[in-house]
Amino acid sequence: MPIHESLLQRLQLCTSLPTPPSTAVKLIDLVNDPNTSLIQIADCVAFDPALAVKMLKVANSPLYSTRRTATNVRQAVNLMGTHAAVTVALSFSLVRNLSGTHKNDEELLFWKRSILSALACRILAGRFGFNPDDLLVAGLLQNIGVLALQTTMPDEYPVDAMALDDEALLEAEKAKFGSGHDEVGYWLLKKWRLPDHLALACIASHVAPSTGETPPSPGGCVAVSGYFADVFIKEKDTGAVQKVTNAASRWLGMDADSTAAVLEKMGGSAKEFEDLFDVPLIAVEQAEAIVDQAKELVMIASLGKLRELEEKAQRDALTGAHNRQYFDEAFNQEFAASSRHGWPLSVAFIDIDHFKQVNDTYGHAAGDNALVTLSRLISTQIRNGDIFARYGGEEFVLLLPGMDSDAAWIVLSRIREVIASFAHTFGDATFNMTISAGLASHKDGTLTYVLPEELLHAADNALYAAKHMGRNQIVRATKEIRMVKHSLPLRGE
Ligand code: GH3
Ligand code: MG
Ligand code: MG
Repeated sequence: MPIHESLLQRLQLCTSLPTPPSTAVKLIDLVNDPNTSLIQIADCVAFDPALAVKMLKVANSPLYSTRRTATNVRQAVNLMGTHAAVTVALSFSLVRNLSGTHKNDEELLFWKRSILSALACRILAGRFGFNPDDLLVAGLLQNIGVLALQTTMPDEYPVDAMALDDEALLEAEKAKFGSGHDEVGYWLLKKWRLPDHLALACIASHVAPSTGETPPSPGGCVAVSGYFADVFIKEKDTGAVQKVTNAASRWLGMDADSTAAVLEKMGGSAKEFEDLFDVPLIAVEQAEAIVDQAKELVMIASLGKLRELEEKAQRDALTGAHNRQYFDEAFNQEFAASSRHGWPLSVAFIDIDHFKQVNDTYGHAAGDNALVTLSRLISTQIRNGDIFARYGGEEFVLLLPGMDSDAAWIVLSRIREVIASFAHTFGDATFNMTISAGLASHKDGTLTYVLPEELLHAADNALYAAKHMGRNQIVRATKEIRMVKHSLPLRGE
């Protein structure tokens, strides 16, 4: 998307936009030329003594270390190879020039964040098999548009830009200027004549994937890198850890372990990056504490997610009641505990009366809707610890641990009444429904059962009797009822 017209005019008129230093301009030419040779890069770097020192340092650092040691720029460039040498030289020369005369704390913070993002990008690139040096530059420059907007419109730009999330900041910018720092950043980097594969990081990084199934991309690494940086910058904000956990999962499909591993690597390499870029990043003793705390929080955040997933797997999609599988497991456990300790346990099948007619008269959608409403009505009548599940179709089952037959009878009677008196509305239609229930109880001083299936079978027989006796009523399993052998098969089977 092109930049908003009036914003473009203001940017073009601004004389103080960040500009690359002369060494960087030369390096950009070299980046753009597919035939660039090692000697040309070495030549360019050697003309800039401060840059030459950096290149030697980086070539000998653990980032690139081989068994050989470079003692001069020519060797350093050789060790790194054309592509890495020119990209790394470019990042150093840009950061030094742009951040060199930090005017204020905000700008320093900006570069801190950019460099930490670049570090995260490099680590992520290694993880996903992308070019680490390209990603380093992309991570470094992804928010250059912020600097451009701040410089062009210092009075109008949101003062708390760095405190905002990238997504929130983009929204604020778009509302105010018509374009965000993503488009402005791309525009600026193209003005510097950076090749697309580096400049596009500004744009690509801000577009969240529509589904979690998108494969990891370089743009995804750049997008997530800012969240990784924030963990170190906003060290007091536990929300930063939650955000990086979510972002890493959303953009790159990373689990909590991988996210924690990246944070740990960042903590380990921060000192090195600080030396290379001459921007103070984090105190060493702090880094360890931040990483430890973040790792812990990442695990907690992911546990929360796990619980959410587990919870979802236990629920029926339509009604939100527990599903059959969950019920079966809980029922067997409760039955065993009840048998072992002599605690009473009640179970009831609940079946809607003439539900076929509801479908036939008002349509299947009305039927679905009624199933949802009915589940909610029943849920309001039970306590924590009672288990209400959809057993299949329009049949539900209620498990009441610790309740004898009389106590369960009271609960079921209330449920029967509440449902019978509730007027369902769907579209223009209004209708009432009734339910029948069959109740069986274990270890309540009357009947006892050997196997869980027998208890369930007795409840099912009781339901059958309730239907037979005219519906809209509850029937308790008696000695006779429970013995019936030729009744309906277990419902839902
Ligand atoms: P009764 O139990 O009183 O003997 O009569 P009924 O009409 O309720 O009994 P039956 O078991 O014959 O019919 C149940 C109907 O429930 C049939 C089926 O189409 C409908 N049903 C089952 N599951 C769903 C569902 O998820 N949505 C809707 N709308 N209908 C369902
Ligand atoms: Mg029915
Ligand atoms: Mg039925």
